[in-house]
Amino acid sequence: MSKHYIKGCYYYPNSSQHQQCFAASNKSQIQLVDSQQRNTLLSVLITECQIESPLPGVASELNFAGGGRFVPEDINHRWAFTHTKTGMSERLEKSKPLILASVILIPLLLWFILYRGIPAIAVYSVSLASPATVEAMGNQSLKVIEKVALAPSQLPDETQNNIQQQWQQMLDELNLDSTIFRLSFYQSDYFAANAFALPHGRVIVTDELVTLLKDKPDALRAILLHEIGHVEYQHGIRLAAQATASTIVLAVIFGDLEGITEVVLGSSSSFLQQAFSRDMEREADKYAIEKLIALGYSNNDFADAIQALQNKLDEQAQLDDSWFKYLSTHPSSQERIDFARQYTPQ
Ligand SMILES: [Zn+2]
Repeated sequence: MSKHYIKGCYYYPNSSQHQQCFAASNKSQIQLVDSQQRNTLLSVLITECQIESPLPGVASELNFAGGGRFVPEDINHRWAFTHTKTGMSERLEKSKPLILASVILIPLLLWFILYRGIPAIAVYSVSLASPATVEAMGNQSLKVIEKVALAPSQLPDETQNNIQQQWQQMLDELNLDSTIFRLSFYQSDYFAANAFALPHGRVIVTDELVTLLKDKPDALRAILLHEIGHVEYQHGIRLAAQATASTIVLAVIFGDLEGITEVVLGSSSSFLQQAFSRDMEREADKYAIEKLIALGYSNNDFADAIQALQNKLDEQAQLDDSWFKYLSTHPSSQERIDFARQYTPQ
């Protein structure tokens, strides 16, 4: 046994009783002797001892198999037989470059969770959203939009009925549920000539769009199919879920949990201000083209529709900007026309 004694305190098992003593160790054994170094209090094999993970500034305790423990008086004392694992955690905690790295990496990690992780989880969670939740979100959104930007349609009943009939026929042929996919007309100075889909499947078409496409039923059909594509791919719910998840994470981080219900219900309307991504638009275009072909029309009908919109835009650009609205929220017309013309069905 080495003659090097470590001063400390022995705490008896399952008891508040403790006693000043010395510890001495060799390669295989630990011995505790009393202050006078006469009586052995305890003698155990090193393999039966556990060292508490040593933190800088904290004494490295020895825990014995029987339940007792020895706490060295010197907080900087480290046992010669410290396991490499605990030694490493101590080295990490003392390393200045690593502390500096964590100061930089933790905000980066937070950013990554908020802007990459959350959207990915939101996309996944969309598949878990119940139809009732989606319906509630959609209706809530429509209420808000109706209040700020929509007025009752001024279209003649006959025009509305004709388009509704076309719509129903299209749904039947594509095997789409007409309780989900619903078409509504509104007059809107704000949206002008426009169409958009709400997350729960209601597609809104403005009087202005119907009027401007009154001689081009195939163009209107192509646009309606594009909007159905947004619903089929759940683009609206994905945007709303991302916005909601990010807001919740921020609320949790900053400790403001009270407004969460409001956030969940209210953020659904925010998707309208947030344009769909270009990838989403391309996905919806591809959907529209595929379905046009399935319905016996051609990919060129889609290109013609966009071309017609673009021509109208060029014609009317100086007169009013109503055409600009629809096209401005979508990728470049030429890109979409080219894609449609070159499309080969798989
Ligand atoms: Zn779109």
